[in-house]
Amino acid sequence: MAKIAVLERKCTGCGLCQRGCPFGAIDMANGRPAFNAACRVCGLCVKACPNQAIVKLETRTSTVDKSQWRDILVFAEVSGGRLHPVALELIGKARELAAPLGFKVRAILAGSGVAAEAMELRHYDVDEIAVYDDPQLAYFRADVFAACVEDYIRAVKPSVVLVGATSLGRSLAPRLATRFRTGLTADCTKLEMRENTDLVQIRPAFGGNIMAQIVTANTRPQFATVRYKVMNAPARSDEPSGAIVQRVLPKAARESRVSCVGVTPVPPKTSISDAEILVVGGRGLQKEADLAMIRHLAALLGGDWAVSRPLVEKGWATNERQIGLSGRTVRPRLIITCGVSGAIQFATCMRDSEFIVAINTDRAAPIFDVAHVAIVDDLYKVVPELIEKLKEARA
Ligand SMILES: Cc1cc2nc3c(=O)[nH]c(=O)nc-3n(C[C@H](O)[C@H](O)[C@H](O)COP(=O)(O)OP(=O)(O)OC[C@H]3O[C@@H](n4cnc5c(N)ncnc54)[C@H](O)[C@@H]3O)c2cc1C
Repeated sequence: MAKIAVLERKCTGCGLCQRGCPFGAIDMANGRPAFNAACRVCGLCVKACPNQAIVKLETRTSTVDKSQWRDILVFAEVSGGRLHPVALELIGKARELAAPLGFKVRAILAGSGVAAEAMELRHYDVDEIAVYDDPQLAYFRADVFAACVEDYIRAVKPSVVLVGATSLGRSLAPRLATRFRTGLTADCTKLEMRENTDLVQIRPAFGGNIMAQIVTANTRPQFATVRYKVMNAPARSDEPSGAIVQRVLPKAARESRVSCVGVTPVPPKTSISDAEILVVGGRGLQKEADLAMIRHLAALLGGDWAVSRPLVEKGWATNERQIGLSGRTVRPRLIITCGVSGAIQFATCMRDSEFIVAINTDRAAPIFDVAHVAIVDDLYKVVPELIEKLKEARA
């Protein structure tokens, strides 16, 4: 990292630096240069100053000894008394990343009465399952959970920590990354491991227009969150393996500043991420009432319905039904998109569905690049026909 500094005692306020800056990054305030957000730290102002009053400061970055950080740790979330399926997906990915480096796969479970979940994890090829089982962990409190995970990380020094991008995970992971003064990449869609143990964290950036490869090159551990349904869960083996290690709640976890005064259970909601069959309406729909045929088709197929973002923006559906970067990632067995163009921000989060049928009048619509079956036609003709055919088949 570099930055520009002004040596006040040498600066005469001549303004030559301001004139020499091609980015308009210097404002003269009280006769002294002040650098604004346009500064690229190019150093031209340093050369322009006749009094050597401007200097470029380089910060030396120290690099951690990467060989001291081994293994991959997965935070196995328990929500509503059951193991969140994203934990299994992360374990599957962790095994894949760990294998070439000879790393172990570790999992950490925190909760109250989580013995059964720990036993269940033994069927997913985890080398060590660290369990913090304590009444203090009955409900999620970010500081208490973070203290437990921090305790285990300090004990085993994993190179990588994978956390599900759930509400809980999104609260926990940044807190931990800050404690270790290290990097965190949120919502990764792909993970790769380099020989030097740098985790290549790949995710859409700049509104989904590029896939950024992010590396935490100088610090450890490397934190990444991954959304549910992005990775593949491994098959459950009949034979349990791996060791369960009971850990004692660290002192810091007993000193929470958060106390739980009551719990109001939220009725369980179905999520489009869990649907096996999805029918999706896009901006090709002309009015809100037309969503009824999308719902009807979904119901006949025994599935759920979803939308693209413009329909949420119009207030026709809630964000929970939106597929895409700013909505949910889905991976159903069958997805039928109706009047959806297939913009990158949408397609990235549904392209791994098993079977994709797209209905669109525009032959050049990008949705056809990911579709297995392309229906170039009017949805107002195709969807009612499909509904009729399904009704006939049922009758
Ligand atoms: C940072 C960022 C995040 C975003 N996140 C999301 C996100 O999470 N989810 C999301 O969906 N978008 C997201 N977007 C918006 C995204 O870029 C697109 O604008 C959006 O996906 C377009 O939705 P659409 O396909 O329904 O509409 P359009 O792009 O307008 O496409 C409508 C399609 O319907 C077809 N059509 C029209 N009439 C008919 C008919 N009668 N029969 C058949 N086909 C018809 C048209 O040919 C067209 O292809 C995001 C954008 C940004 C910048």
